[in-house]
Amino acid sequence: MNAIFNGQLIPKDEITISPDDRGYHFGDGLYEVVRVYDQQMFMFSEHFDRLKVGAEKIHLTLPFEKHELQEQFQQLIQKNHVSEGEIYFQISRGIVSPRQHLIPNSKKTTPIYLAYTIPIERPVAMQKNGIRATVIEDTRWLHCDIKSLSLIGNILSLDEAARKGFDDAILQRDGKITEASASNVWFVVDDILYTHPDGNLVLPGITKMQILKLARANGLKVCETPFSVTQLDKITECFISNSIYEIVPVISIDGKQIADGQCGAITKKLQTLYIDSIRTSH
Ligand SMILES: *Cc1c(COP(=O)(O)O)cnc(C)c1O
Repeated sequence: MNAIFNGQLIPKDEITISPDDRGYHFGDGLYEVVRVYDQQMFMFSEHFDRLKVGAEKIHLTLPFEKHELQEQFQQLIQKNHVSEGEIYFQISRGIVSPRQHLIPNSKKTTPIYLAYTIPIERPVAMQKNGIRATVIEDTRWLHCDIKSLSLIGNILSLDEAARKGFDDAILQRDGKITEASASNVWFVVDDILYTHPDGNLVLPGITKMQILKLARANGLKVCETPFSVTQLDKITECFISNSIYEIVPVISIDGKQIADGQCGAITKKLQTLYIDSIRTSH
Protein backbone atom coordinates (compact mmCIF):
# COMPACT_ATOMS: atom_id res chain seq x y z
CA MET A 1 0.00 0.00 0.00
CA ASN A 2 1.41 3.35 -1.06
CA ALA A 3 1.14 6.64 0.74
CA ILE A 4 2.08 10.26 0.19
CA PHE A 5 4.64 11.50 2.67
CA ASN A 6 5.63 15.14 2.28
CA GLY A 7 4.83 15.02 -1.40
CA GLN A 8 6.62 11.74 -2.13
CA LEU A 9 4.93 8.49 -3.02
CA ILE A 10 6.34 5.78 -0.73
CA PRO A 11 5.13 2.51 0.81
CA LYS A 12 2.90 3.34 3.77
CA ASP A 13 4.87 1.19 6.21
CA GLU A 14 8.01 3.17 5.42
CA ILE A 15 6.55 6.36 6.88
CA THR A 16 8.33 7.30 10.06
CA ILE A 17 7.23 10.15 12.28
CA SER A 18 9.56 11.68 14.84
CA PRO A 19 8.51 11.75 18.51
CA ASP A 20 9.39 15.46 18.32
CA ASP A 21 6.63 16.09 15.81
CA ARG A 22 4.14 18.63 17.15
CA GLY A 23 1.30 16.49 15.84
CA TYR A 24 2.45 13.77 18.22
CA HIS A 25 3.11 16.11 21.14
CA PHE A 26 0.14 18.42 20.94
CA GLY A 27 -2.19 17.19 18.22
CA ASP A 28 -0.97 20.39 16.55
CA GLY A 29 -2.33 19.80 13.09
CA LEU A 30 -5.32 19.19 10.85
CA TYR A 31 -6.87 16.32 8.94
CA GLU A 32 -9.29 15.67 6.12
CA VAL A 33 -11.18 12.66 4.84
CA VAL A 34 -11.95 12.76 1.11
CA ARG A 35 -14.35 10.21 -0.35
CA VAL A 36 -13.37 8.36 -3.52
CA TYR A 37 -16.10 6.99 -5.76
CA ASP A 38 -15.22 5.01 -8.84
CA GLN A 39 -11.57 6.14 -8.65
CA GLN A 40 -12.52 9.81 -8.44
CA MET A 41 -12.45 12.20 -5.52
CA PHE A 42 -15.74 13.71 -4.49
CA MET A 43 -15.67 17.45 -3.65
CA PHE A 44 -11.88 17.63 -3.33
CA SER A 45 -11.92 21.37 -3.93
CA GLU A 46 -14.27 22.00 -0.99
CA HIS A 47 -12.15 19.81 1.30
CA PHE A 48 -9.05 21.71 0.28
CA ASP A 49 -10.73 25.06 0.89
CA ARG A 50 -11.74 23.96 4.40
CA LEU A 51 -8.19 22.76 5.05
CA LYS A 52 -6.87 26.13 3.92
CA VAL A 53 -9.21 28.01 6.25
CA GLY A 54 -8.30 25.71 9.15
CA ALA A 55 -4.60 26.19 8.42
CA GLU A 56 -5.02 29.97 8.54
CA LYS A 57 -6.86 29.69 11.85
CA ILE A 58 -3.97 27.77 13.44
CA HIS A 59 -1.30 29.93 11.73
CA LEU A 60 0.05 27.08 9.66
CA THR A 61 1.28 27.73 6.13
CA LEU A 62 0.36 24.90 3.77
CA PRO A 63 3.47 23.67 1.91
CA PHE A 64 1.53 22.97 -1.32
CA GLU A 65 -0.96 24.54 -3.70
CA LYS A 66 -4.38 23.09 -4.32
CA HIS A 67 -3.48 21.58 -7.69
CA GLU A 68 -0.34 19.98 -6.26
CA LEU A 69 -2.18 18.17 -3.50
CA GLN A 70 -4.88 17.19 -5.96
CA GLU A 71 -2.29 15.65 -8.29
CA GLN A 72 -0.64 13.79 -5.41
CA PHE A 73 -4.00 12.40 -4.30
CA GLN A 74 -4.84 11.33 -7.84
CA GLN A 75 -1.50 9.60 -8.14
CA LEU A 76 -2.20 7.79 -4.88
CA ILE A 77 -5.61 6.61 -6.04
CA GLN A 78 -4.07 5.22 -9.23
CA LYS A 79 -1.14 3.52 -7.52
CA ASN A 80 -3.35 1.94 -4.86
CA HIS A 81 -6.06 1.01 -7.37
CA VAL A 82 -8.74 2.54 -5.18
CA SER A 83 -12.14 2.20 -6.70
CA GLU A 84 -14.39 2.81 -3.67
CA GLY A 85 -12.69 4.29 -0.65
CA GLU A 86 -11.36 7.30 1.15
CA ILE A 87 -8.19 9.31 1.32
CA TYR A 88 -7.10 10.03 4.86
CA PHE A 89 -4.88 13.10 4.98
CA GLN A 90 -3.19 14.84 7.86
CA ILE A 91 -0.76 17.65 8.33
CA SER A 92 1.09 18.67 11.46
CA ARG A 93 3.26 21.67 12.24
CA GLY A 94 6.39 19.59 12.19
CA ILE A 95 9.35 19.01 14.39
CA VAL A 96 10.64 21.13 17.22
CA SER A 97 13.20 19.59 19.50
CA PRO A 98 13.08 19.93 22.45
CA ARG A 99 9.32 20.04 23.01
CA GLN A 100 8.00 23.56 23.45
CA HIS A 101 4.48 24.96 23.64
CA LEU A 102 5.16 28.21 21.83
CA ILE A 103 4.42 28.04 18.14
CA PRO A 104 7.83 28.38 16.51
CA ASN A 105 8.55 30.87 13.76
CA SER A 106 7.26 29.23 10.57
CA LYS A 107 10.74 29.55 9.04
CA LYS A 108 12.06 27.20 11.70
CA THR A 109 9.62 24.36 11.08
CA THR A 110 8.42 22.47 8.05
CA PRO A 111 4.93 21.01 8.24
CA ILE A 112 4.76 17.26 7.83
CA TYR A 113 1.93 15.73 5.86
CA LEU A 114 0.80 12.33 4.77
CA ALA A 115 -2.06 10.72 2.93
CA TYR A 116 -3.10 7.14 2.42
CA THR A 117 -6.12 5.34 1.09
CA ILE A 118 -8.62 3.09 2.82
CA PRO A 119 -10.94 0.97 0.70
CA ILE A 120 -14.54 1.24 1.91
CA GLU A 121 -17.99 0.49 0.70
CA ARG A 122 -21.04 2.65 1.08
CA PRO A 123 -22.56 1.66 4.48
CA VAL A 124 -25.87 0.67 2.88
CA ALA A 125 -27.24 -1.33 5.82
CA MET A 126 -26.75 1.60 8.18
CA GLN A 127 -28.17 4.01 5.60
CA LYS A 128 -31.27 1.85 5.34
CA ASN A 129 -31.79 0.73 8.93
CA GLY A 130 -30.43 3.72 10.81
CA ILE A 131 -28.71 4.09 14.16
CA ARG A 132 -29.69 4.67 17.79
CA ALA A 133 -28.29 7.77 19.45
CA THR A 134 -28.12 9.35 22.88
CA VAL A 135 -27.90 13.04 23.72
CA ILE A 136 -24.91 13.99 25.82
CA GLU A 137 -23.26 17.23 26.77
CA ASP A 138 -20.87 18.74 24.23
CA THR A 139 -17.75 19.17 26.32
CA ARG A 140 -15.45 19.97 23.41
CA TRP A 141 -13.56 23.22 23.01
CA LEU A 142 -14.84 26.38 21.30
CA HIS A 143 -13.02 25.89 17.99
CA CYS A 144 -15.08 23.00 16.69
CA ASP A 145 -14.91 24.52 13.21
CA ILE A 146 -11.26 23.47 13.01
CA LYS A 147 -10.75 19.88 11.84
CA SER A 148 -8.08 19.42 14.48
CA LEU A 149 -6.04 16.25 14.88
CA SER A 150 -6.97 16.30 18.54
CA LEU A 151 -10.28 14.50 18.78
CA ILE A 152 -10.29 13.67 22.49
CA GLY A 153 -13.62 15.41 23.06
CA ASN A 154 -15.23 13.62 20.13
CA ILE A 155 -13.76 10.28 21.13
CA LEU A 156 -14.93 10.59 24.73
CA SER A 157 -18.46 11.44 23.60
CA LEU A 158 -18.62 8.39 21.32
CA ASP A 159 -17.16 6.25 24.08
CA GLU A 160 -19.80 7.45 26.54
CA ALA A 161 -22.55 6.68 24.03
CA ALA A 162 -21.10 3.22 23.30
CA ARG A 163 -20.77 2.38 27.00
CA LYS A 164 -24.47 3.19 27.40
CA GLY A 165 -25.29 0.87 24.50
CA PHE A 166 -25.92 3.47 21.78
CA ASP A 167 -24.40 3.78 18.31
CA ASP A 168 -23.53 7.47 18.50
CA ALA A 169 -23.68 10.61 20.59
CA ILE A 170 -25.73 13.65 19.65
CA LEU A 171 -24.11 16.58 21.41
CA GLN A 172 -25.85 19.45 23.14
CA ARG A 173 -24.35 22.67 24.43
CA ASP A 174 -26.50 24.94 26.62
CA GLY A 175 -29.63 23.10 25.55
CA LYS A 176 -28.96 23.36 21.80
CA ILE A 177 -27.93 20.45 19.61
CA THR A 178 -24.60 21.08 17.91
CA GLU A 179 -23.59 17.93 15.99
CA ALA A 180 -22.81 14.24 16.48
CA SER A 181 -19.46 12.75 17.50
CA ALA A 182 -18.09 12.69 13.94
CA SER A 183 -20.89 14.05 11.78
CA ASN A 184 -23.37 16.88 11.40
CA VAL A 185 -26.90 16.29 12.64
CA TRP A 186 -30.25 17.18 11.12
CA PHE A 187 -33.88 17.18 12.28
CA VAL A 188 -37.23 17.39 10.54
CA VAL A 189 -40.22 19.10 12.16
CA ASP A 190 -43.33 20.02 10.13
CA ASP A 191 -41.42 19.12 6.94
CA ILE A 192 -38.77 21.73 7.73
CA LEU A 193 -35.15 20.61 7.83
CA TYR A 194 -33.09 21.94 10.73
CA THR A 195 -29.34 21.92 11.24
CA HIS A 196 -26.92 23.99 13.30
CA PRO A 197 -25.44 26.95 11.40
CA ASP A 198 -21.71 26.94 10.69
CA GLY A 199 -19.65 28.83 13.23
CA ASN A 200 -17.27 27.89 16.00
CA LEU A 201 -19.56 25.26 17.57
CA VAL A 202 -19.70 22.77 14.69
CA LEU A 203 -17.46 21.41 11.97
CA PRO A 204 -18.57 22.87 8.62
CA GLY A 205 -19.22 19.55 6.90
CA ILE A 206 -18.69 19.20 3.18
CA THR A 207 -21.55 16.69 3.11
CA LYS A 208 -23.64 19.23 5.02
CA MET A 209 -22.81 21.86 2.40
CA GLN A 210 -23.93 19.52 -0.36
CA ILE A 211 -27.13 18.49 1.45
CA LEU A 212 -28.05 22.15 2.01
CA LYS A 213 -27.53 22.84 -1.68
CA LEU A 214 -29.58 19.81 -2.77
CA ALA A 215 -32.37 20.49 -0.28
CA ARG A 216 -32.75 24.11 -1.40
CA ALA A 217 -32.54 23.24 -5.09
CA ASN A 218 -35.34 20.73 -4.58
CA GLY A 219 -37.71 23.01 -2.76
CA LEU A 220 -37.24 21.70 0.78
CA LYS A 221 -37.57 24.23 3.56
CA VAL A 222 -34.29 24.53 5.40
CA CYS A 223 -33.64 26.31 8.65
CA GLU A 224 -30.05 26.77 9.82
CA THR A 225 -30.76 27.54 13.45
CA PRO A 226 -29.64 25.75 16.60
CA PHE A 227 -32.19 23.08 17.52
CA SER A 228 -33.32 22.94 21.16
CA VAL A 229 -33.21 19.73 23.14
CA THR A 230 -36.74 20.55 24.33
CA GLN A 231 -37.96 20.35 20.70
CA LEU A 232 -36.77 16.77 20.28
CA ASP A 233 -40.20 15.36 21.15
CA LYS A 234 -41.59 17.10 18.03
CA ILE A 235 -39.21 15.64 15.46
CA THR A 236 -40.46 13.28 12.77
CA GLU A 237 -37.00 12.54 11.29
CA CYS A 238 -33.37 12.80 12.27
CA PHE A 239 -30.20 11.95 10.38
CA ILE A 240 -26.46 12.48 10.50
CA SER A 241 -24.07 13.24 7.66
CA ASN A 242 -20.41 13.00 6.80
CA SER A 243 -18.36 11.96 3.78
CA ILE A 244 -18.27 8.30 4.77
CA TYR A 245 -21.80 7.85 6.13
CA GLU A 246 -23.28 10.17 3.51
CA ILE A 247 -26.76 10.29 5.08
CA VAL A 248 -27.61 7.90 7.91
CA PRO A 249 -30.99 8.04 9.65
CA VAL A 250 -31.23 8.16 13.43
CA ILE A 251 -34.21 6.00 14.35
CA SER A 252 -34.30 6.58 18.09
CA ILE A 253 -32.88 9.02 20.62
CA ASP A 254 -32.33 7.88 24.19
CA GLY A 255 -34.55 4.90 23.57
CA LYS A 256 -37.45 6.95 22.24
CA GLN A 257 -38.36 5.88 18.73
CA ILE A 258 -38.65 8.62 16.10
CA ALA A 259 -41.93 8.34 14.14
CA ASP A 260 -42.28 4.70 13.00
CA GLY A 261 -38.61 3.90 13.58
CA GLN A 262 -37.84 3.76 9.86
CA CYS A 263 -35.81 5.98 7.59
CA GLY A 264 -38.10 8.97 7.01
CA ALA A 265 -39.35 10.24 3.63
CA ILE A 266 -37.27 13.44 3.57
CA THR A 267 -34.16 11.57 4.68
CA LYS A 268 -34.73 9.01 1.94
CA LYS A 269 -35.27 11.74 -0.65
CA LEU A 270 -32.00 13.43 0.36
CA GLN A 271 -30.14 10.11 0.22
CA THR A 272 -31.29 9.67 -3.37
CA LEU A 273 -30.43 13.25 -4.32
CA TYR A 274 -27.02 12.86 -2.73
CA ILE A 275 -26.20 9.66 -4.63
CA ASP A 276 -27.41 11.26 -7.86
CA SER A 277 -25.17 14.26 -7.23
CA ILE A 278 -22.15 11.94 -6.92
CA ARG A 279 -23.01 10.35 -10.25
CA THR A 280 -23.44 13.67 -12.03
CA SER A 281 -20.19 15.04 -10.57
CA HIS A 282 -18.26 12.34 -12.44
C1 LIG B 1 -15.41 15.77 9.61
C2 LIG B 1 -16.54 16.04 10.55
C3 LIG B 1 -17.85 16.39 10.11
C4 LIG B 1 -18.31 16.49 8.68
O1 LIG B 1 -17.65 15.79 7.78
P1 LIG B 1 -17.69 15.91 6.20
O2 LIG B 1 -17.07 14.64 5.82
O3 LIG B 1 -16.91 17.12 5.82
O4 LIG B 1 -19.12 16.02 5.79
C5 LIG B 1 -18.79 16.72 11.06
N1 LIG B 1 -18.51 16.71 12.36
C6 LIG B 1 -17.29 16.39 12.82
C7 LIG B 1 -17.05 16.42 14.29
C8 LIG B 1 -16.27 16.04 11.94
O5 LIG B 1 -15.05 15.71 12.41
